[in-house]
Amino acid sequence: MTEKYHCGFVAIIGRPNVGKSTLLNTLLGRKISIISRKPQTTRHRIIGIKTEGHEQIMYVDTPGLHLGQKKAINRYLNKTALQSLSDVDAVLFVFEALVWTDEDDWTLEKLKTINKPIIAVINKIDKIKDKDRLLPYLARVGERFAFAEIIPLCARQQKSIELIENAVKKYLPEADELYFPEEMVTDRPQRFMIAELIREQLLEALGQEVPHSITIEIEEFDDSDAAITRIGAIIWVEQEGQKAIAIGAQGRRLKEVGRLSRLEIERLLNKKVFLRLWVKVRGAWSDDERALRSLGFTDE
Ligand code: GDP
Ligand code: MG
Repeated sequence: MTEKYHCGFVAIIGRPNVGKSTLLNTLLGRKISIISRKPQTTRHRIIGIKTEGHEQIMYVDTPGLHLGQKKAINRYLNKTALQSLSDVDAVLFVFEALVWTDEDDWTLEKLKTINKPIIAVINKIDKIKDKDRLLPYLARVGERFAFAEIIPLCARQQKSIELIENAVKKYLPEADELYFPEEMVTDRPQRFMIAELIREQLLEALGQEVPHSITIEIEEFDDSDAAITRIGAIIWVEQEGQKAIAIGAQGRRLKEVGRLSRLEIERLLNKKVFLRLWVKVRGAWSDDERALRSLGFTDE
């Protein structure tokens, strides 16, 4: 068999509220995200893998490019983020039909500096009442930049999958094999994803105070209730001092980390979430089965 594979990384970028998460959910359907521990992917946060036959698209968030977080744009489109963007094979630059803000402008100016195919994804076209406005508008978008493609769509509609995938497929490099197994497991990777979201919020809140020693263990994951998913997570730290820092005065820091994590997890799962966080100090971790599990040493 000499059949070729095509696998590539695609970044989804745009200011908050343009519909990135919605689009991602549509693109991935139920097969939601795997977090990879593979070295070649450490510069990206993989938020979803879509495999079809010999084609595999890894939708990525790049470090510092925080999807859906309402942060000042300069926080997430910084130099590091741009550097890691230079590894992707294409960029989906999402913005809203007939709406163009300073943030969009700023984002595009930054994207112009990377030498990658930029696909303009014009979302929410369902909001255009007067359909005659669409064509002249598309022409104006085309004048802003030499986009690789311009795709008007409605992120909520299934049709978007075909529109995006057809565009992206042109930019997937040839590969000898798939990067990731084609089967999409749900539970375990979802736990990883959730743990990563919590860890991200925590690191954000702590700055450099408690660096790499933190691990998150998802102790409880109960989605038997259709209305709400109950999640319990332990934040493992190495010293008492780190525990105090993570909890903060009157528990305020942990509470805020919990709130922000919950919002992210709700976006991921598309469901209401009840999240409980504990901070625990990991003792001699080789004796601690849980710590081992949280570190990925498991024989399940
Ligand atoms: P993100 O911050 O870029 O991830 O944006 P979200 O995916 O969270 O979407 C922001 C808001 O826009 C939500 O209220 C979505 O329901 C809404 N939205 C997303 N896509 C569309 C669309 O195609 N049409 C309309 N009318 N609303 C949309
Ligand atoms: Mg979002």
